[in-house]
Amino acid sequence: MWFFKPAWQSKNFNKARKMAEKEADQAILAEIALKALDDVTRAIAAEKLTDQSVLVDIAKNDVDKLVRQAVVKRLADQTALAYIAKNDSESTVRTAAVNKLTDQHTLAGIASKDKDKDVRILARAMITDPVILAGILTTIVTVTDRDMYEAISLTKKIDDQYILAELAKKARSLHVCNTAADKLTDTRLIIDAAENAAEWTLRIKLAKRLTDQAVLVSIAKNDADKRVRKTVLEKLAGQPVLAEIVMCGCAGSEDALASLSDRDILEDIISKTQDKYIKDRALRQMGGFTCLSCGRENRPDNGRKLLCVCVYCQAENHAFKRRHESSTGRDWEHSSSWDECMWCAQTKNHESSLTGSM
Ligand SMILES: [Zn+2]
Ligand SMILES: [Zn+2]
Repeated sequence: MWFFKPAWQSKNFNKARKMAEKEADQAILAEIALKALDDVTRAIAAEKLTDQSVLVDIAKNDVDKLVRQAVVKRLADQTALAYIAKNDSESTVRTAAVNKLTDQHTLAGIASKDKDKDVRILARAMITDPVILAGILTTIVTVTDRDMYEAISLTKKIDDQYILAELAKKARSLHVCNTAADKLTDTRLIIDAAENAAEWTLRIKLAKRLTDQAVLVSIAKNDADKRVRKTVLEKLAGQPVLAEIVMCGCAGSEDALASLSDRDILEDIISKTQDKYIKDRALRQMGGFTCLSCGRENRPDNGRKLLCVCVYCQAENHAFKRRHESSTGRDWEHSSSWDECMWCAQTKNHESSLTGSM
């Protein structure tokens, strides 16, 4: 038996489209939107549909990505949008769904799992919950310029000082660390991050903003990185507190001593320290030395440079450092290394002295 197909099922697509444009009945429009042969006809009908459940059906099942994409833009149902955002095979449809998603956890899942980078970036940009954003920013890796700009702009969205401090301390990307550190205003948290950031460059950046002397002293004493300690010592330059750092016998003692020139402070350190190395270094800092033979302290008189002959026992206390360069003297053909006294700059040939010929 033959019966007439409705116009919207026509293989004459122009006729079908006109029919869909004229139709007002929601039930018929639904049927057209679900079953018409022509993509455009289905899209025209879908445009006019108001029933969300039919729209969800189309968004999930239409074979044409443009139809699905158009319908997704009209969906409000978060559950359906989440399903489409996670499961549609086309990135353009997933993008349309992500654009309408508000559920933060769904967005976070898409931000880490979608196979398309653009979709992941969009999902991250849609996240507003600072805790979820911080979770992403802690582990985000910035390789390209685009990664960098994204990481910076996401970090700028966070205002919570505690979260910013955590990011400055622990984020994997230095761009995140730096941006977070720049937004820190809470002094207590700046101190915390200056003391505990994983990256030494961050610790320096934050230490430069500190004024609390007790905190600066603590960093100068204990920071694991010499470069951080040095930066802080520069801030403490010329202050008596440097002696306290020298005397602490901690990581920063030697650096602090190197930055001291005040003779009274150096003398004070020499008289008080139990550390032979520090004592010798302080003495040398003043231009003197400890005699290697009799152990007495030779001090320069009125700041004059001392030759390293002990004024007490007359022993030559040369402490030579290797020069590792060919002598221009008579031993040149042997490329023998000559050494230089650290105090008086006298030189001697190390190999010769080893063989006892000097
Ligand atoms: Zn001596
Ligand atoms: Zn010497």
